[in-house]
Amino acid sequence: MTLEIYDTTLRDGSQQEGISLTVGDKLRIAALLDELGVDYVEGGWPGANPKDDEFFKRACKELDLSTATLTAFGSTRRPRSKVAIDPQLRSLLDAETEVVCIVGKAWDYHVLEALRADLDEGVRMVAESIEYLKAHDRRVFFDAEHFFDGYASNPDFALAVLRAASEAGAERLVLCDTNGGRLPSDVVRTLTAVQETIPAAELGVHFHNDAGCAVASSIAAVEAGVRQVQGCINGYGERTGNADFSTLLPDLSIKMGIDVLGSKSLTRLSSIAHHVAEVVNISLAPHHPYVGSSAFTHKAGLHTSALARRPDAYEHTDPATVGNRTRMVVSELAGKASILSKAEELGLEVDDDFARRIIERIKELEHEGYHFEAADGSFELLVREMAGWEQSFFKLESFRVFTERRAHEEVVAEATIKVVVNGERVVSTGEGVGPVHALDQALKDALRGTYPAVADLHLTDYRVRVLDSKDSTGARVRVLVETADHETAWGTIGVHENVIEASWKAITEGLIVGLLRHTAG
Ligand SMILES: [Zn+2]
Repeated sequence: MTLEIYDTTLRDGSQQEGISLTVGDKLRIAALLDELGVDYVEGGWPGANPKDDEFFKRACKELDLSTATLTAFGSTRRPRSKVAIDPQLRSLLDAETEVVCIVGKAWDYHVLEALRADLDEGVRMVAESIEYLKAHDRRVFFDAEHFFDGYASNPDFALAVLRAASEAGAERLVLCDTNGGRLPSDVVRTLTAVQETIPAAELGVHFHNDAGCAVASSIAAVEAGVRQVQGCINGYGERTGNADFSTLLPDLSIKMGIDVLGSKSLTRLSSIAHHVAEVVNISLAPHHPYVGSSAFTHKAGLHTSALARRPDAYEHTDPATVGNRTRMVVSELAGKASILSKAEELGLEVDDDFARRIIERIKELEHEGYHFEAADGSFELLVREMAGWEQSFFKLESFRVFTERRAHEEVVAEATIKVVVNGERVVSTGEGVGPVHALDQALKDALRGTYPAVADLHLTDYRVRVLDSKDSTGARVRVLVETADHETAWGTIGVHENVIEASWKAITEGLIVGLLRHTAG
């Protein structure tokens, strides 16, 4: 019996503050989740909003899923009503998916207070809705909302709801910790009680992360024998999110030896996690387990020299199994060994003497306010330049940037840039919400003709910090930028008294590193 991976990024995950997905975004994410190899992709809640209705219409025509099954989500019929006239159940059928997942209340408090119905009606709503969907040839999963809290409050009612769902034909009974406050030990106790009461049921679990335990509780539930886990890639979801598949899937696969992705491989995980983050437009935290850019990053000098010899002594698993990689960060603390291994990682050959000169140079620059830990891209360029390399993608003649505030509080920035690209002088302009955005647009526009790869390079993070200075008129500004393609991201840095100049250095270095990776130059 295999464990089923049920992804709800497109429904529960999209409830996260700051996430707003278009139908096109949802289709892209569904395709990426299928590429990853999850068993079920919950597409949304038909009838709840026109966007989800359109998603299901387009998904039928445009999505060609190889391993995932698309499911539609909805709730049981309204209280004191009839299934045949329930608009919500009608929309669920109209989505025309083979599998539907419906949510019903398992906590007596919610039935009595939120629905203002009696408990018998609460049970009937679940049973009749499932029977109705089964009569229309749907496979049905049942999400028992607030199950763990409901079981603690009134176990008889919570179990009566599950029994009714099972007898009505639900294939999976999914126990949800909707408020996310339960601990793993508590989850296992409740699960065991359910298994003893309804031994034939195939159970699933759905955890929210409010107590920081969604992944831990999912693992405990899998150990206790559940058939299905629900969650979201990168842990998206309301409040503190849902169980994080980017962490849970490698835990289940690498640590527990469970086959979670069938024929697909976890080696695509990091790349897909970053790609979804790009569509969602929220940068993935560097310290995200397994898939974050710092998940296998090492800093201290001593440690890195040992790491170069024996990586398994300092890493809990081989980063390649999840498609990530070991990274060394460079700082003035770094020893020669970490410079050498960083250079090797970049494919550059350097000797001991050269490494010592680089360390000296880094110390000088860090004194001026540079900080290479988060700027691996700038470090790469520094090493190349000290070895005599010079970037040949473009030469700057000049740029000019201004910001205009128009009536009605509209603010726009415009940049004009003059560069020599491939021996030819190019003048281009860019508009943006701010001066840095406008400059980035203008430079990309100037390069696009010769280097089409710039279209795939995106500015994904921009941070400015004013550095402490005794002389406040001469305060320096440090700009850290992150640039990404579809696969990875890299950091670059600029330091200057003028924020535009510091930004210019950081964004151009970001583009140069990207061009180095995408062109033969
Ligand atoms: Zn949920």
